[in-house]
Amino acid sequence: MTIDRIVKKFKENHPGVDAEILWLAYDFAAAAHEGQFRKNGEPYINHCLHTAYLLTEIKADLSTVTAGLLHDVPEDTEVTLEEVEKNFGADVATLVAGVTKLGKLKYRGIERYRENLKKMFLAMTNDIRIIFIKFCDRLNNLRTLEALPEEKKRRIAKETLEIYAPIAGMLGIWRLKWQMEDLCFKYLYPDEFHDLEQEYEVEKKAERNLYFQKIKNIISPRLEETGVDYKMEVRFKHLYSIWKKMQNKKRRFDQIYDVFAVRLIVPTINDCYKVLGIVHTLWRPKPNRFKDYIAVPKPNGYQSLHTTVFGPENKAVEFQIRTQKMHEESVYGIAAHWYYKEKSSGQEVDKQPRWIQEITEVQKELNNTKEFVTNVQLSVFHDRIFVFSPKGDVFELPEGATPIDFAYTVHSEIGNHATGAMINDRLGRLDQELKNGDLVEIILDKNRLHPSKDWIKFAKTKKARDHIKQYSKKSTLENIKRFIPGIK
Ligand code: MN
Repeated sequence: MTIDRIVKKFKENHPGVDAEILWLAYDFAAAAHEGQFRKNGEPYINHCLHTAYLLTEIKADLSTVTAGLLHDVPEDTEVTLEEVEKNFGADVATLVAGVTKLGKLKYRGIERYRENLKKMFLAMTNDIRIIFIKFCDRLNNLRTLEALPEEKKRRIAKETLEIYAPIAGMLGIWRLKWQMEDLCFKYLYPDEFHDLEQEYEVEKKAERNLYFQKIKNIISPRLEETGVDYKMEVRFKHLYSIWKKMQNKKRRFDQIYDVFAVRLIVPTINDCYKVLGIVHTLWRPKPNRFKDYIAVPKPNGYQSLHTTVFGPENKAVEFQIRTQKMHEESVYGIAAHWYYKEKSSGQEVDKQPRWIQEITEVQKELNNTKEFVTNVQLSVFHDRIFVFSPKGDVFELPEGATPIDFAYTVHSEIGNHATGAMINDRLGRLDQELKNGDLVEIILDKNRLHPSKDWIKFAKTKKARDHIKQYSKKSTLENIKRFIPGIK
């Protein structure tokens, strides 16, 4: 990577902007990191250059790319933040300071996880561009992970998968999200990764391309008749998301049908609906699979029309129809939002879009926990739910947890004496699956002596299962003792 390439890429997205500062930042960072090397033997400055380049790829603004070059200077060199500020101004210095603050974490395990998440949210609400830099920094670190000790490698990969990637998704920066996920997948599950890669990229590729060609041949003449200016491309699911789907649905690769989608990009919203009409007259739509995210965008702002139809050979094919602007926003997420705003006004932009401000507001009212959880954490803690006790305490449980898990999480005695549950002030069952934000109250039976063996069928947490198993082992042993005297 060279600074020339970064400047060139930056100018593609920001033609009128004087990018001289990028050269200065490069010289400054190169001098500061002089003599430093990464674990893989590369000069340290390479990491700074790659981080900055990744930022230009998501169309980041000048201050952000500059800060990308400088992001490790105060942390890892003799040069201070004050000197950065003196040379590059307050805007750049604030960004560098934000990234530095995110850097060091002393905690371990779940505490580290929470602390990390809290820091990310704080940085995000401070200036969202700090997160862009951190993401690109992390992505480059993932690419150069090989030289690190095994344990550290795994820790970084897990942390990325659990915190960085979901937040990138929440911000709609899919480009970074899927790159991070596939790299982590490769590190954490190398065998599964390589098997799937072989099957997906090598064995099935020709077949997929042929099928896409078939669709194209059928739909192209119809689109040309309408005179709509369109771009057609095929979007392949990335490996990690296919793998996750295989895990969730317990299916083999060849049983996952939506590994690709056909994307149609058209000039206006009107054209989107026009093209949807064409798709639906050519092929029969699959019931309940049509989603109008144009009329009702996703919470992160994502817009598109989605429909699955029975295409050639009666195979299910997903179509995604959108305008160019929606398309860019779906790839670059909030980064694109930023970019468009900057382009259209040519002026000082808001530090954050409205919905980020909303998160901040909700976060400030932390006592309004229920709403905070449903609004923000729902999409971040992808496989966890949060439920509430009548006193308002929050308990974190795995997805699919039941009131019996909740009972044992609160206290083992509550678990042992549970006989029923009130869920959101209604009588519920002990084996009922809890949902995010549920209010759960356990009904106790003081006369109950021990947990029921049957609970093991629906207990999800280790704590609950251990208690139930422990008891059933004990009771089996007691039964044996009763019948075969003399055994201790
Ligand atoms: Mn770094």
